[in-house]
Amino acid sequence: MASPINPRSVALREITQRPVRITSRPEENGVQLPTSTWFGSNTLGLRTMRAKLPKSVYAKLAASIRLGKKLDSDVAPTVAQVIKEWAITRGVTHFTHWFQPQTGLTAEKHDAFLNFDEDKFPIEQFTGEQLIQSEPDASSFPSGGLRATWEARGYTAWNPASPVFISETGGTKYLCIPSVFIGYNGEALDEMTPLLRSSDVLSHRAMDLLELIGDKGVLRVNTTLGVEQEFFLIDRAHFALRPDLIMANRSLIGAPPPRGQQLEDHYFGGIPERVQACISEVELELYKLGVPIVTRHNEVAPSQFEMAPIFEDSDIAVDHNHLVMSVLRKIALRHGLQAIVHEKPFAGINGSGKHCNWSMAITADNALDGVNLLKPGKTPHQNVRFLLFLAAILEGVHKHAGLLRAGIATSGNEHRLGANEAPPAIISAFLGKGLTQVIEDIADGKTSPTNAEQAMLKLGVAKLPEVEQDNTDRNRTSPFAFTGAKFEFRAVGGSQSIAFPVMLLQAAVAEAIAEMTDTLRKEIKTAKSVDDAVLKVVRASFKRTAAVRFEGNNYSDEWVVEAKKRGLLNLRRAPDGLAQLTTKDAKSLFKGTGILTEIELESRYHVRLERYVKDILIEQHTLQQMVDTQILPATYAYVGNIAQAAGQGAAAGINMQPLVDAANATTKLIATLQKKRAELAKVIAKAEGMHDDLVAQGAYLTSTGCDTMNDVRDAVDALELTVGDEFWPVPRYREMLFPV
Ligand code: ADP
Ligand code: MG
Repeated sequence: MASPINPRSVALREITQRPVRITSRPEENGVQLPTSTWFGSNTLGLRTMRAKLPKSVYAKLAASIRLGKKLDSDVAPTVAQVIKEWAITRGVTHFTHWFQPQTGLTAEKHDAFLNFDEDKFPIEQFTGEQLIQSEPDASSFPSGGLRATWEARGYTAWNPASPVFISETGGTKYLCIPSVFIGYNGEALDEMTPLLRSSDVLSHRAMDLLELIGDKGVLRVNTTLGVEQEFFLIDRAHFALRPDLIMANRSLIGAPPPRGQQLEDHYFGGIPERVQACISEVELELYKLGVPIVTRHNEVAPSQFEMAPIFEDSDIAVDHNHLVMSVLRKIALRHGLQAIVHEKPFAGINGSGKHCNWSMAITADNALDGVNLLKPGKTPHQNVRFLLFLAAILEGVHKHAGLLRAGIATSGNEHRLGANEAPPAIISAFLGKGLTQVIEDIADGKTSPTNAEQAMLKLGVAKLPEVEQDNTDRNRTSPFAFTGAKFEFRAVGGSQSIAFPVMLLQAAVAEAIAEMTDTLRKEIKTAKSVDDAVLKVVRASFKRTAAVRFEGNNYSDEWVVEAKKRGLLNLRRAPDGLAQLTTKDAKSLFKGTGILTEIELESRYHVRLERYVKDILIEQHTLQQMVDTQILPATYAYVGNIAQAAGQGAAAGINMQPLVDAANATTKLIATLQKKRAELAKVIAKAEGMHDDLVAQGAYLTSTGCDTMNDVRDAVDALELTVGDEFWPVPRYREMLFPV
């Protein structure tokens, strides 16, 4: 019996013959132009706006961008006109409001500039109305019950702080207007609106606190964000043969290859040429879009890479991270590659996270402009200020650790958190040796809390940044680490929209800042100086939040025990993490800050839990189909092949017992798989039968549901290591991860 042509061998032939695609970069007279000369060429930045807009209009626009103020609708027509001219001269035909529904992705609906005037002559038109607002049907986006389908109206509105940009794809160009997506009663239907609200609230609260300690003239406190994006690049031909990667973005089966990442030879290794060519083209496209990618390197797992930008205003960094993910996916295909940002596409090797480096910076019309609040300074006052904001962050993280956990609770991240490659599900903060010493000295009262000036000199806070930068042991195991002048929220998943986790962080910190302001205001009345009062407040705070500080190995079993003693949450499963969105503390945080109404908060919980359930059900159905239509048939063919040979051999008088033994061993594994597959079918039926009770569904799927999938996987993987290579229907880990 001849075996059919194995699709894997066809893919391998295609892959080994793939040429490297070289992209040309902008050049003049045969010489490549420096990136800085065309960076942002597909965005309409403030510089062009200033050149084209009347002074008064420009001033209003600039203020709205710089200070997060709403754009006056009376300037919209003029701005729209400039945008239209700019876009049309670049060959743009359509525009779209580009927004971020609660799907984790971006959404767009294109409208042509083409219109007809009153004489029915064709014209290009783009009005102020069209710039600031458009009306998409909200009913087909997840809203978590926020909006019944019969009142489906929602609208998208330009967020002027994020520059409009041109998307180039498939030989066409269209204008993207970064937007928020809101219901007609103002309810946030998207990820961006709550983020913007949290940035505003944090800004106001931080300004109050700065004002109180004598830092005057602050116009805004922006949060800053630098997002390190990890991802895998595998060949498209392999990807196309894996229904699990296509449907669920992760492999649901696959035996571990003999070589995984144990040689530790991939991290910072030489980037393969094909990948280099791909990443360079990704960078090229991102530069045109004004995304400041500056770092690229191999990551720990084979075929895993990372790109990171220079940090920006958080609100913009979030848009830019979406662009990074979408441009990466698009350009990779041109190189015959598939980009995968899922948190755990391959079992047994590292998954992908997204380190969110976060800080706060002052906008002011005086010397305070540009000051990073998480950077110690030269004067005692600067350091007092630094410690104050540091304390506020620790308060926020301590009190709302559960919420931060909720922000990273996805089906994908569940595989990563606590898997010895990513921080555990326990949220704690790492501060480094030098800073910890300072904090503990203050908390222990080793420095007099009544003379801030001397205390600061003694503590040597001003020297801290150097100390931290030199500190080579960065403690990669911490979910939330101070890495000199910023915190690095490392537990965020690779495929996530970061708007949500960053919003939660900002909300928690904003609340803590407000509480500190209140306490400090009282303290100042009796203290000798403001700085002395701050030191006293900070001291009490460092003591209160001691439990959330952890310098040790977050991967160790001892930490799990220790964290429990400290009363820290350890929520290993995503549904438990998400349930933190429903606590009293969460409700009062969002009510107090006004970032989410109670209904908006509930809807976020609902959307995310529902997403979790859907993710797992998709995985289960995919796994079942692969077993039924690919794996089992392959094993039958393999056994049939042996049986045929055994029959022929026996007829010829040959001892075929060894073949019979081999076939019997395989059929035993097949029987196990059939049994597990039947159990999976029951689990799916039961889970789907629970559709009226989302919470129960989530609880069932995250336990029995995931366990059963793992059992099926084990049975399949055992067969993968038994069945003849030419019979195995799906690309193996070895093939996908080690390109030839
Ligand atoms: P590390 O090696 O500590 O991770 P890098 O300097 O490579 O540090 O920075 C990682 C990311 O952190 C980059 O995207 C960088 O721009 C960003 N970053 C640096 N400073 C800040 C800051 N003040 N606020 C936000 N992000 C920052
Ligand atoms: Mg880093």
